[in-house]
Amino acid sequence: MSGLKRMAQRAVVHAIARTAPLTWRWRRPGALVVLMYHRVLPRDSPVRATEQPGMYVSPETLDLHLSELKHVFELVHLEDWLRRARQGLSLPRLACAITFDDGWRDNYEFALPVLRKHAAPATIFLVSSYIGTAYRFWPNRLMSLVQHAFAEPGSVVFPHPLEHIVAPVLAEARGRGALGVEDTDRVVQHAKGLEEAQIRALVETAEQSRGDTLQAREIVNRDEVVAMAATGLIRFGSHTATHLRLGGRLSAQALAGEIVGSRTSLQDLTGQSIELFCYPNGETSPEAIELVRRHYLGAVTTGKGWHDPSADPHLIRRIGVHEDVSNGRDPFLARLSGWR
Ligand SMILES: [Zn+2]
Repeated sequence: MSGLKRMAQRAVVHAIARTAPLTWRWRRPGALVVLMYHRVLPRDSPVRATEQPGMYVSPETLDLHLSELKHVFELVHLEDWLRRARQGLSLPRLACAITFDDGWRDNYEFALPVLRKHAAPATIFLVSSYIGTAYRFWPNRLMSLVQHAFAEPGSVVFPHPLEHIVAPVLAEARGRGALGVEDTDRVVQHAKGLEEAQIRALVETAEQSRGDTLQAREIVNRDEVVAMAATGLIRFGSHTATHLRLGGRLSAQALAGEIVGSRTSLQDLTGQSIELFCYPNGETSPEAIELVRRHYLGAVTTGKGWHDPSADPHLIRRIGVHEDVSNGRDPFLARLSGWR
């Protein structure tokens, strides 16, 4: 982008940010914005090298978001808001609910202190069978593999059809003499076009080809969950049992395990009633939605937008926030308005 274009864009973002809170006050009362966060990683965290830019904010950025939100919104537990809406009770004029997907250990280490500082309620969506394990999500594993393949050509064998996705990106990066996080991010985006079971098997095979070493635990464990619950600020929802994308054709048994089984396990683990669900990657099917309706008070998607009492509580849209699009007051407020 040219310098002039960037300046013009900054002016637009600034104008939107200045007027947005005023226009929000004109919305029909009862509007709810649900924010979708994933990870909270400090600026110097080495983990950033194998993470997609759309997955994290820094603790400082989260702090800034919460300060800004408190000027305009009443911060609520999503569950409380939904219960009041269902019972036809009065709702805050403008409310905001914070959510974190996947149950990352950094939520405990870096998000919790900031949430406590602001007394901000939040819901963390946990993947029930990964709690306390060294499980790594395939996008991070794939990004690591591509980095290894770039650093040491021939050190990783990518099986077909993964090879067709990785090879052109590696060739291009070699031509430039550098592999950036935007390259590895591109590989992950393409790989998402494959079936979930297939991509997991392919990543596993590629790892075996280089005899991958064990990584540090990245997912919260039971003690961390219990400690967060004890603050009264954090509640938990289900993000399935194994982070299976629910858009494909799944057996009734598999669906029940992911949607109903995960709820039971999480209730045992947290001692809380689990009332909210989060669809992995935002993917749904009529069967999945039907089952979610029967077992949960509400559910969130990755669809972009605001929620209100007339919208479907089992297909709640959210605004995804991450460092690259919201690391300042102006871009954050513009993002909340649906800009970019
Ligand atoms: Zn997820």
